[in-house]
Amino acid sequence: MPVIVQKYGGSSLADAEMIKNVARRVAVCHDADNQVVAVVSAMGDTTDRLIELAAQVSDRPEPRELDVLLSTGELKSCALLAMALHSSGYQVISLSGSQAGIQTDTSFGMARIAGLDPERIMRELRAGNIVVVAGFQGITDGLDITTLGRGASDITAIALAAGLGAARCEVYTDVDGIYTADPRVVPSARKLAEIGYQDMLELASYGAKMHPRSIELAAWYKVPVLVASSTQNTLGTLIHDLALSNSDHTGDGAMEVS
Ligand code: ASP
Ligand code: MG
Repeated sequence: MPVIVQKYGGSSLADAEMIKNVARRVAVCHDADNQVVAVVSAMGDTTDRLIELAAQVSDRPEPRELDVLLSTGELKSCALLAMALHSSGYQVISLSGSQAGIQTDTSFGMARIAGLDPERIMRELRAGNIVVVAGFQGITDGLDITTLGRGASDITAIALAAGLGAARCEVYTDVDGIYTADPRVVPSARKLAEIGYQDMLELASYGAKMHPRSIELAAWYKVPVLVASSTQNTLGTLIHDLALSNSDHTGDGAMEVS
């Protein structure tokens, strides 16, 4: 059974109704005979609120403690999404970044992933569970919680897709793909059906944004990334190895990571 990693951004998880909407989408992917790992960001502007809260109690919050605080945003959406899926009758488990095996260096607030031990996730998938993972966080060798930088749930998702040998990573957001120009400014802007990793990195891309380091990671491990809307059922944009696309991309969504 193919592994699909899905990532849902904070604006797609802003309230209980939206979390239930995401749960339905995760369930559809599971029902289509996939092993699903859903990576989530913090609800709405939770991370900004937590940073403001920290500033109210300290002029210079200790980076280690700030990371403990910020990691709770993703944990909250992670647990809530698992509860929503469970109440619809699905077998599901939520995992923190640490439980998911994401090991990092000690740069609090902008930690780099140093290693990934996918054993726990694989065990849960084999047991028939949908696995929901808190994005944006990991753990150091010394067992301190770290965060990976603003917007870095994308990095979590791509790293897991690479480490699990996923068929693809699907990034769901409030914009339905990558555009030729800013659609809010240029009415004739066109949504791209596909784009190569290099173009995505080098050109200013409009529409859905992804963390640049996540694109580098996807390019390195050749993870196909589908960027699409979390609410509409429109076709998104496929970011992949365009050099290989003519021979490898069958167009029916049945892609394999080579
Ligand atoms: N919640 C974190 C942030 O707002 C990570 C993410 O959204 O990817 O930066
Ligand atoms: Mg966020």
